[in-house]
Amino acid sequence: MTPPVTRPYRGRLAPTPTGHLHLGHAATFLRTQERCQQAGGTLVYRNEDIDRQRCKPEYARAAIEDLAWLGLSWGEGPDLGGPYAPYDQSERREHYLGTWARLRDAGYIYPCHRSRRELREHAPTPKGDEQDAEPLYPPKWRPPPGTGAEALLPGECTWRFRVPDGETIHFHDALLGEQRFTAGKDFGDFPVWRREDMPAYELAVVVDDIAMDITEVVRGADLLLSTARQLLLYRALGASHIPGFAHCPLLRDASGRRLAKRHDSLSLRAMREAGLSAEEVRQRALDPDS
Ligand code: GLU
Repeated sequence: MTPPVTRPYRGRLAPTPTGHLHLGHAATFLRTQERCQQAGGTLVYRNEDIDRQRCKPEYARAAIEDLAWLGLSWGEGPDLGGPYAPYDQSERREHYLGTWARLRDAGYIYPCHRSRRELREHAPTPKGDEQDAEPLYPPKWRPPPGTGAEALLPGECTWRFRVPDGETIHFHDALLGEQRFTAGKDFGDFPVWRREDMPAYELAVVVDDIAMDITEVVRGADLLLSTARQLLLYRALGASHIPGFAHCPLLRDASGRRLAKRHDSLSLRAMREAGLSAEEVRQRALDPDS
């Protein structure tokens, strides 16, 4: 028997430049680099600036500077180029459009004209970390399979992925162990293309992780449900390889709230300006109680 072919390890750092990076990002990215180094792999930097309204070039530049200061380095990225360029999501629209068309033609997605407000008012929110909970899209709002999609373009409405209600999506997480989520209960039909005519995060990230041949995704545990949604996309797209997943515990502030870009005093930039060394910040990120 021929042994299975092992693909060379490829990990990625994928910040969204909507603000300055903080200690929580540092924690996830340091683990990402560590796992990549242990595997002797290549680290890819991908600038997730798909949302042109919310993302700012100055934050994208600051993220590269701050991560380099912290001691991270990567082998491919917007600053270095590489075989899978471009590494800025804002320049990869045609990849996302091609995948949107494939999903539409195969009947996996449908156009949705409901507003966010309607959804909030009429849809139950599943239990869980309140910051992540998204209303469950009511199945009765779905069009019958195979109808309504032909004449519409991506930016004319939201496009949603029809989840297989009741199916359990399970995967092994390298840090957290077995994970199970039920489609239609833990999460509902999710957007793959937004009314503002841009791909949704779930679509863009799967398209890029496939295209850039990523073998392991290391991300924050706030994205566990997203990983379950993304596994449905990998399957719908018939991906020949699905990356492994490692979700890192989230850092919390003194009152137990998870760190966010609004915690300015914990931004890498602010800590550096306050005189902390990169080594001190690394220690705080990896052992916040120290
Ligand atoms: N860009 C996403 C974020 O900053 C993370 C992407 C991912 O790890 O899939 O939240």
